[in-house]
Amino acid sequence: MKIAMVSEHASPLAALGGVDAGGQNVHVAALSAALARRGHDVTVYTRRDDPDLPRTVPLCPGVDVVHLDAGPARHIPKDDLLPYMSELADEIAKDWATQPPDVVHSHFWMSGVATLDAVMRPDGPQVPALHTFHALGTVKRRHQGADDTSPPARAWLEPWVGRTADRIVATCSDEVFELKSMGVPTGNISMVPCGVDLSLFPTTGPAEPRLRRHRLVAVGRLVPRKGLDLPIRALRLLWDAGLDDVELHIVGGGTEAEKLASDPEAQRLRALAQELGVEDQVVLRGQVPRDHMPDLMRSADAVVCTPWYEPFGIVPLEAMACGVPVVAAAVGGLIDTVVDRVTGLQVPPQDPEALADALAELLRDPALGSKLGAAGQKRVHARYSWDRIAAETERAYQTTLSRRSGQLQRIEGSAL
Ligand code: UDP
Repeated sequence: MKIAMVSEHASPLAALGGVDAGGQNVHVAALSAALARRGHDVTVYTRRDDPDLPRTVPLCPGVDVVHLDAGPARHIPKDDLLPYMSELADEIAKDWATQPPDVVHSHFWMSGVATLDAVMRPDGPQVPALHTFHALGTVKRRHQGADDTSPPARAWLEPWVGRTADRIVATCSDEVFELKSMGVPTGNISMVPCGVDLSLFPTTGPAEPRLRRHRLVAVGRLVPRKGLDLPIRALRLLWDAGLDDVELHIVGGGTEAEKLASDPEAQRLRALAQELGVEDQVVLRGQVPRDHMPDLMRSADAVVCTPWYEPFGIVPLEAMACGVPVVAAAVGGLIDTVVDRVTGLQVPPQDPEALADALAELLRDPALGSKLGAAGQKRVHARYSWDRIAAETERAYQTTLSRRSGQLQRIEGSAL
């Protein structure tokens, strides 16, 4: 198949860990590469955010990234991109005028808006469209209220994308529930999780040396909803419980030291650590290159993932691939990926006491950690390789294509 991916803000070429660069970038890059390994020809369309970017950049054999002009060629926060989506649709339609793809898969609601705009034009390319939301505005608003910076139009455009695309590829069962409440017909939903790059996160390998007896690692973009304050609060409770030789490494944020120093979330986390008297135990690592992530994860007794909500969450899969137990808030995709007391421990969201209790249990019982870590490794190899995820995604594409050709045959039949 000739497959088009549209990912307006999340380029597979971007550095990870910044405010708008995380799991979606990883997902689009890895899924495209895995589909190409299955023999498909993949083009990823993204917005040009730098004037020096060439139009086409090869990502790997079988995958090209195409930069389309839509709005100023500089970084624009994703929540300010909606006004440029019709320009993006124009560019997509222009590119497909002569050689349309067999199928298009858009990522994030705004890419869905641009893609459906392009494919629904009467004179445009009538390409079957699948969509993955990665995050849902309804869930975001529920948790962030007035702090949600999404444009107000998201409230109606997102459900419109959900009901208009040929098929929605949801990444977890919690999302399927949300989609149904949004009015997306159950028959139009396929559930395919994200995967993990098992060559980048192999079963064995070196581990960074620790500075203290125990180490916890938390990875996330430095935004409040990632709940990175919770492991800091738990650190204090662990200290009170006699576990005082524990370091917490928080990964994510800017690359340069000054950027991290001026980051409001980094400042908030630092101030909290100081207030709780655990500042010597907290290391803000900033952005860590992806290829160093396995060494860092392997150095931990546990990887802590305690977001307020999480559309999927690739970090727990990466930790599991490294054989490290995950202590996760029971939200979103983490409910599916982290099996409580089998591959990790689940705790209620936003509950530092429960988190501290789970961490204390793990730190006091290394055999439990090894057992959970080994089970996690087994689970990701059985269920979450990108090759398997690509095969399941391909099935969703085929279902969509055969439904479309069935519809065409019915229309032709009734016209005769
Ligand atoms: N990541 C990274 N370096 C960093 C921070 C994050 O390589 O400094 C990667 C991390 O390993 C994971 C992705 O970014 O692959 C984050 O994905 P996830 O789905 O967990 O969170 P999101 O950022 O999408 O909310």
